Amino acid sequence: MSAVGNYDFLAPQRILFGWGRWSEVGPLAARLGRRAVLVVGSRTLEAAGFVDELKEVLRRAGVEPVHLATVMQEPSVAEVDAAAARVREISRGDDLVLAVGGGSAIDLAKAVAALATNRAGSSVRDYLEGVGRGLQIVDPPLPVVAMPTTAGTGSEATKNAVISCTSPSVKKSLRSDGMMPRAVVIDPQLAVSLPPSITAETGMDAITQLIESYISRKARPIPQALAADGLWRALPAIVEAVEDGSSRAAREAMAQAALLSGMALANSGLGMAHGVAAALGVHCGLRHGLACAVMLGPALGVNRQVTEAELAQLAQAARLVGDVPAPTAAEALIERVEDICRRLRVPRRLSEVGVRPAQIPDLVRDARGNSMDGNPRSLSDEELTRILEGHL
Ligand code: NAD
Repeated sequence: MSAVGNYDFLAPQRILFGWGRWSEVGPLAARLGRRAVLVVGSRTLEAAGFVDELKEVLRRAGVEPVHLATVMQEPSVAEVDAAAARVREISRGDDLVLAVGGGSAIDLAKAVAALATNRAGSSVRDYLEGVGRGLQIVDPPLPVVAMPTTAGTGSEATKNAVISCTSPSVKKSLRSDGMMPRAVVIDPQLAVSLPPSITAETGMDAITQLIESYISRKARPIPQALAADGLWRALPAIVEAVEDGSSRAAREAMAQAALLSGMALANSGLGMAHGVAAALGVHCGLRHGLACAVMLGPALGVNRQVTEAELAQLAQAARLVGDVPAPTAAEALIERVEDICRRLRVPRRLSEVGVRPAQIPDLVRDARGNSMDGNPRSLSDEELTRILEGHL
């Protein structure tokens, strides 16, 4: 019998999931405010007229839409500060922030909602973990409604926002329990317009989050149960979602898996793949999902010995094996992940994504932080250097 211990579990108050359900956001938003400040994360959806339709749905529910920003990559400190200043300027006390987009848009919305009501700092930088002045989000943020249009980050169900910072060059989180989105509308149909490459990368982000949160040293029973279910859905679906982007079953499976990965990681932490992925984003310009995909194999190799039992449980939950010994089951999971990476043409070596040997010290230094703290094995700088050099 394994010990459970004390833990908290945090999740959005309301989740609407389902194909074609995006239009239900009107009444949902109306319960939270009278004006929706919009953060949009896709020019494709804008050009297709979706954002105009969304505004109409809001108006019909008595909510006035105001376009705040369109963002297609990790929000920067300057972007967050400018957007937060604008929201403070126009604020009239009945606003909510509505994000429709990938993790970048949802994170910008969460950060803006927090800064709009917390004015102790002059910049979001003051609140960022590890680089800021250690300021905390103390006042409740504006309510956030998240509508993901990628299936990867799970940011719709986490309490942090990843912000890129230039001095020093790092990606760090603004984090607070109050930043958990109040309501989430997950309509897998919104991801149909995603190109195959982004479907692959974001899907691999979700798979990495599901596995890393399950084996994390901060893992707990509820998030583990969610992660196991998510992996069972994602493993058979990801290649189909990439090869046939209009497959309803595959898009639904990936959207559900991404949501579960967010709920899991918000309550369990992550590990080495995500720690290094953040540093790869900063120093090598890699998109987050691609960086996770490249690092998942190495992270599984590094942690395999100490997490064999957990990897075997995941293999069984995903129905990859029957009643076989743990080493065989763990191997089956690792092989399945390798097979998916081969089929999605995920680069195997860091040099293939432009990493140079001289960058390794920076990667090792900036891989430290919240994600790395969850890694099942503690890794010294020397060991992490050897691991990264071994995958160059
Ligand atoms: P993204 O939001 O950066 O979007 C990637 C690309 O896809 C963009 O060009 C975007 O415009 C496009 N796009 C989005 N939806 C589309 C659609 N339906 N059709 C066509 N194009 C579309 O990518 P992402 O992977 O979802 O988010 C990455 C960000 O999320 C990173 O900044 C990462 O650090 C962050 N993140 C946050 C958390 C968290 O818990 N807060 C967790 C993991 C990652």
